[in-house]
Amino acid sequence: MRIGSRVRNADLAHDPAFARRFPAVAEALLSGASAQLRNAATVGGNLLQRTRCAYFYDIASACNKRQPGAGCEARGGDTRLHAVLGWSESCIATNPSDFCVPLVAFDAVVEIVGPNGQRDVLLESFHRLPGDTPERDSLLEPGELIVAVRLPAEAAAFSAHARYLKVRERTSYAFAVVSAAAALRIESGKIAEARIALGDVAMKAWRALRRRRRCWLARRPMPRLSAGPRRRHSPMPGRPATTNSRSSWRDGS
Ligand SMILES: Cc1cc2nc3c(=O)[nH]c(=O)nc-3n(C[C@H](O)[C@H](O)[C@H](O)COP(=O)(O)OP(=O)(O)OC[C@H]3O[C@@H](n4cnc5c(N)ncnc54)[C@H](O)[C@@H]3O)c2cc1C
Ligand code: SF4
Repeated sequence: MRIGSRVRNADLAHDPAFARRFPAVAEALLSGASAQLRNAATVGGNLLQRTRCAYFYDIASACNKRQPGAGCEARGGDTRLHAVLGWSESCIATNPSDFCVPLVAFDAVVEIVGPNGQRDVLLESFHRLPGDTPERDSLLEPGELIVAVRLPAEAAAFSAHARYLKVRERTSYAFAVVSAAAALRIESGKIAEARIALGDVAMKAWRALRRRRRCWLARRPMPRLSAGPRRRHSPMPGRPATTNSRSSWRDGS
């Protein structure tokens, strides 16, 4: 499935062929923003939207992403929606896209065209973790354009058992506190592969689980999905933040 970068979010979510084939992606698209915004937002634009960190938008606050070297006012500030994985001393912002979460679970590929020709980048690698250069959100180089996003044929094998769940502070028109896309590939009534990707926990959609066959899930026909212990299942190294975000949120403070 190849989706042009100028396709509107609403058009894609409501396209019957697409929604039937990738209901979890349609679900993610429809959980984002508002109907009016989805009518305007595009595939390429959604991938490249900036973080929703409030300090990034407040020009009176120090922000390394807006002005490299300025500092990060979010650290020690109001961090209940900030990163718990993949953050750095320079920046603890998150990527707010809903669309990207199931796309990462499905191994979507970003088609890029630029002065040096065309290149394909796995969406999972397209967004950058902040490190020492939080001003750069993606691998896109100057002069390059996203022309399409591709879902590989094997992604369709997950579509019947895939869901997107978004937890937010109010039920509509809000960015996620956390979200998850879970997808199972079933063969002969058994789970052949399980994938989970998380949203709004890092500066990219975070692949939390990818297990084939021998997976602990495969012992049961239709289990309750859980990411399980992070160290056992996460193929991406993650250093959970303990002093920000959900640690204070859990206390209700
Ligand atoms: C109030 C509000 C709430 C929102 N809530 C959510 C939400 O809950 N979930 C969610 O996922 N999203 C949310 N969004 C994001 C929204 O869905 C859009 O994706 C986002 O605003 C980007 O808009 P756009 O698609 O029109 O892109 P634009 O604003 O047109 O583009 C964004 C950036 O990408 C660049 N760009 C666009 N297309 C390309 C391309 N093909 N190649 C290279 N560069 C390109 C532009 O130059 C620009 O720098 C929200 C936005 C707003 C304003
Ligand atoms: S978390 Fe990142 S975007 Fe937010 S203020 Fe700090 S440097 Fe800026």
